[in-house]
Amino acid sequence: MKIGFIGLGIMGKPMVRNLMKHGHELVVFDVVKPNVDMMVSEGARAAENTAALAAECPVIITMLPNSPHVKSVVCGEGGVLSTAKKGTILIDMSSIAPLASQDVAKACAEKGVRMLEGPVSGGEPKAIDGTMSIMCGGDEDLFNECLPILQCMGGDITWCGAVGAGNTTKLANQVVVAVNIAAVAEAFMLAKRAGVDPNRVFAAIKGGLAGSTVMNAKGPMMIENNTKPGFKIDLHIKDLNNALETGHGVGSPLPLTAAVMEMFQTLHADGLGQCDHSALAKYYEKLTGDTIY
Ligand code: NAD
Repeated sequence: MKIGFIGLGIMGKPMVRNLMKHGHELVVFDVVKPNVDMMVSEGARAAENTAALAAECPVIITMLPNSPHVKSVVCGEGGVLSTAKKGTILIDMSSIAPLASQDVAKACAEKGVRMLEGPVSGGEPKAIDGTMSIMCGGDEDLFNECLPILQCMGGDITWCGAVGAGNTTKLANQVVVAVNIAAVAEAFMLAKRAGVDPNRVFAAIKGGLAGSTVMNAKGPMMIENNTKPGFKIDLHIKDLNNALETGHGVGSPLPLTAAVMEMFQTLHADGLGQCDHSALAKYYEKLTGDTIY
């Protein structure tokens, strides 16, 4: 099938590769030309712009940073809806605010475009091996129709409810990940300050109740002082911002999320916003004047 793909960043590139591996014909666009060139060198075709891509593709996937990017790429001047044919399917796989996703779905419906949201979890490694978790929101029949495409990129693929439910699920995911990263960093620093090697602590506890996918992925990065993203602190700030706003809107306070948000904000102010979110360890290194590595 011909699939248009917009947003060829850390996640978009491996997702495009997996779709091509399954025999799909990919038409791609990104505002950063080297990203487009890389995908073209691997077998995709470049579209001149978003409108040209939308005019020719019956299925369009977007993988963009945040709500304003998705709103402008889909609903803005020269956006997807300026040229998409009636019946086109838009799968927005970006992590955005649930209310923004509902706004985009409404604008799509007015043009006869069917929209499914499918934010993902698992980071770059799972995007590469095609086993991401995908949390979908939208019409259930549309979800079932899109499943064969989603299966090229994901392992656990769940229909969570109407549009907004997928991004709400993603926010819940980001709360768990953020608080878990902070707990791992806090625990490793405690061990280091008390004279126990964090490597030993990791080896000893990872198989017990304290162990987690987050600890397995991010613990070694803290111990090796590896801050290469992965998932950037600035993107996690974006997600926690969306979570806090949503929580306030529905009357569900998020005290732990708010605490971790301030840690991330401190690191952003220190110029570390483009580091992997495991660099949250640097917050504890700042507090103690010691290092985990
Ligand atoms: P990224 O910043 O690496 O990529 C975003 C891409 O969108 C960039 O290539 C950028 O040039 C492009 N872009 C921005 N505005 C555009 C526009 N107007 N038109 C066309 N292209 C445009 O981000 P990423 O890490 O790939 O994340 C993408 C989404 O996936 C985000 O919502 C993020 O929260 C989510 N996500 C990321 C990870 C991860 O580990 N990186 C994991 C799960 C979910």
